[in-house]
Amino acid sequence: MANPSLLILAGDGIGPEVMAEVKKIVAWMGDRRGIVFDVSEDLVGGAAYDAHGTPLTDATMARAQAADAVLLGAVGGPKYDRLDFSVKPERGLLRLRKEMDLFANLRPAQCFDALADFSSLKEEVVAGLDIMIVRELTSGVYFGEPRGIFKEGNERVGINTQRYTESEIARVARAAFDLARKRSNKVCSMEKANVMESGILWRDVVQEVHDRDYPDVELSHMYADAGAMQLVRWPKQFDVIVTDNLFGDLLSDAAAMLTGSLGMLPSASLGAPMANGRPKAMYEPVHGSAPDIAGQGKANPIACILSFAMALRYSFDMGEEATRIESAIEKVLADGLRTADLLGPEGGAPVGTAAMGDAIVAALDASL
Ligand code: NAD
Repeated sequence: MANPSLLILAGDGIGPEVMAEVKKIVAWMGDRRGIVFDVSEDLVGGAAYDAHGTPLTDATMARAQAADAVLLGAVGGPKYDRLDFSVKPERGLLRLRKEMDLFANLRPAQCFDALADFSSLKEEVVAGLDIMIVRELTSGVYFGEPRGIFKEGNERVGINTQRYTESEIARVARAAFDLARKRSNKVCSMEKANVMESGILWRDVVQEVHDRDYPDVELSHMYADAGAMQLVRWPKQFDVIVTDNLFGDLLSDAAAMLTGSLGMLPSASLGAPMANGRPKAMYEPVHGSAPDIAGQGKANPIACILSFAMALRYSFDMGEEATRIESAIEKVLADGLRTADLLGPEGGAPVGTAAMGDAIVAALDASL
């Protein structure tokens, strides 16, 4: 059988720096575990604009569609701020998500023991936390029509439309239930059924999908505003949270901060299964291109490495290897290694990007 394929789009700013460390882990998997990927690389974002005058060429788009998984670093930077909206670096990312139809965005909020005191919440609230937010990514109020700023009488009115079809709700609900079965088998669905018709439909459809196909999974419903409160009050009550595009945008950012630094947060965006059974998939750290530290070898590569671990788990069914990487990271952090973003007010001596990657590879070696 052919090796699984990975398309690496490192992008801009710290993207290529953190991706260099991911490549060390990919190479390690081949050398030490016999798990060999066909890796190819291409340009996205500002880097693609500089080379081709567009943030994503058609050829790169076609390679992404054909790959078993795409790993993306980050895009953007002040150099591109004045570009026309249509060729801004972020448009490359949006095109990938749209044309691959990546409708389920998975954002884990996992607290590594060694960093439990780093959260802005009390240690006992976050220690051992491991939750997953599944956000619908391709519909809802960010895409609904009509939208725009219109003239109404003698003033302007801004309009966006929250719109969900049953099938859009059902497919993201299924993604959440499938995920829950691989975790603690619990899903909490969040909407505003008390004030929004789209929320009533959301609640109905999630319940129908559950009753028909996933009766073994524990399902609860919560209004999204109450959910936000519960997330900061006692986040460990949740396992998988499924919610729409807008609420998911807010709730996943809030949940992310439960665990500390942006430099620790991975994500996955999944679409429908391809002919080989694997989902269309793109994996990327939550952070951006961090122009303030780019080129200084300071960036934390862990979010990007954890994104590769998610690829192993969700695209290649290699959960054990994903856990091996997560354990190696836990070990390195427990040994006290910290990139600058993980140092508290008391300070300490930070390690650089490459040293953090090397330490994780050494911990992987030690795991064999
Ligand atoms: P950012 O995530 O790039 O940076 C926010 C802060 O977090 C900065 O101080 C940065 O130094 C720090 N940081 C981020 N990642 C880090 C890491 N791995 N290690 C250590 N510190 C890290 O967000 P921003 O500054 O708002 O945006 C910068 C650029 O990135 C903009 O052009 C923005 O449009 C773009 N952006 C891209 C993505 C993406 O590619 N998915 C996401 C967000 C922002």
